[in-house]
Amino acid sequence: MDFLPIFRDVRDQTVIVAGGGTVAARRVEIALRAGARVKLFSESIAEDDFANLRGHERLEHFSRCPRPADFDGAALAFAACRRYDDDRKIADMARAAKVPVNVADRPELCDFIMPSIVDRSPIVVAVSSSGASPILARMIRARLETMLPAAFGKLAAFAGDIREKVMTRLKNPENRRRFWERILEGPLATLVFSGDDQTARTLLERELTAAAAEEREGVSGEVYLVGCGPGDPDLLTFKALRLMQKADVVLYDRLLGDGILNLVRREAERIYVGKREGDHAVPQEEISDMLVRLAREGRRVLRLKGGDPFIFGRGGEEIEKLAENHIPFQVVPGVTAASGCAAYAGIPLTHRDHAQSCLFITAHGRNGIVDVDWAQILRPNQTVAVYMGLKLLPDLMRQFIDHGGAPDMPVAVVEKGTRPDQRVITGTIADIADKVKEAGLKSPAMIIIGTVVTLRDKLAWYLPEDGDAEATQGRFIGSL
Ligand code: SAH
Repeated sequence: MDFLPIFRDVRDQTVIVAGGGTVAARRVEIALRAGARVKLFSESIAEDDFANLRGHERLEHFSRCPRPADFDGAALAFAACRRYDDDRKIADMARAAKVPVNVADRPELCDFIMPSIVDRSPIVVAVSSSGASPILARMIRARLETMLPAAFGKLAAFAGDIREKVMTRLKNPENRRRFWERILEGPLATLVFSGDDQTARTLLERELTAAAAEEREGVSGEVYLVGCGPGDPDLLTFKALRLMQKADVVLYDRLLGDGILNLVRREAERIYVGKREGDHAVPQEEISDMLVRLAREGRRVLRLKGGDPFIFGRGGEEIEKLAENHIPFQVVPGVTAASGCAAYAGIPLTHRDHAQSCLFITAHGRNGIVDVDWAQILRPNQTVAVYMGLKLLPDLMRQFIDHGGAPDMPVAVVEKGTRPDQRVITGTIADIADKVKEAGLKSPAMIIIGTVVTLRDKLAWYLPEDGDAEATQGRFIGSL
């Protein structure tokens, strides 16, 4: 982040605004809305822009430029003079007085920048592009405007009124959070939106009594085993996102793409259970025990898995113990790597002219290649997707030919599929291992074998943002 987002209390403090145009008027307006005392400095002011602000009891207008002494004790300063030299002088004076300053449209002179806001006071949403694209920030704000009903402010105010009461009745912060989540999303919120505060209060009393009873008697936690796809956060399901926002603690490993963990509730405790460099992953047994223990503490435990939890994800093993211990759990499917990689590489896994079935296999065993069923793999009109196969690729390709497979059968290897740095290398059983070695592909990578791979030449659509275009697009390297 380039800027620290904070909300500053300026009630009854002095805010300096220099300038007499539209932007200055907006700065004055927002500072007044936030309860500041505003000193406006400008020889002339635009009548129309200031029409609604004139005579405001906390606004003082000086028909001159500000002097250094004017900044003493001020909380913030805004410059919107338009002329660079004037703006610069204001910024220098503010800085000399140690007053944070914002200069309209001159990010290089700013100590802080102004976000676009959605005001549902007391709820305020601020959006910033860190100065990169204020228009984009405004567009996002416009979307948020339509998403947040005007009555949201009412709901927040209602919550504010009863906060103390809830604090006294529910001692455990976990239980309080759960209580708030339940009522702010439930029928009570609807009642407040519609202005029926009296019924809302009756319902609140009932909910609070139930929550207090639950606190006395104890609650049991639960576990969400959630598949979050191969990397692109947009491939998460709504359900995955909802449970990610609900969790108290999350267990995750290396296979998650960037950005996915950021979507988990910020306050949730994070436990890394994946492999570290040169180290072994936390044993499965230990993860299962951890899930049981955390749930027994009454927590909502999120176990995030790359792809789909039930496809080479050992998800089944992780929840077996939960079932034995009667701990409630849910399983959320995710886009599995084969399907994500195939889609983003422009390779349909099945196709009427090429493949009537698709086989998902892993070749990875404790000591190299596991006993795979070659007769099954070599069946015609079929696509084979190999998980965890990158290290074994040369061996696998050799065995493919030894068992009678066609050396010119097309193969694609998709590295970091669906991610901004996805790379795809295509070739044949005979040459793919060399090409992959030359390109230096790393894990995670998906191997796709079958004539469907040829369709990529026509169907590739995804242009990864990172990396050099030729390699990432893969149309030129190893194109068939
Ligand atoms: N449960 C996961 C698979 C876990 S096994 C799923 O359903 O996708 C791990 C293997 O999945 C990796 O070795 C690799 O072969 C594949 N994989 C996972 N994410 C991938 C990605 N983004 N790109 C390519 N392969 C990926």
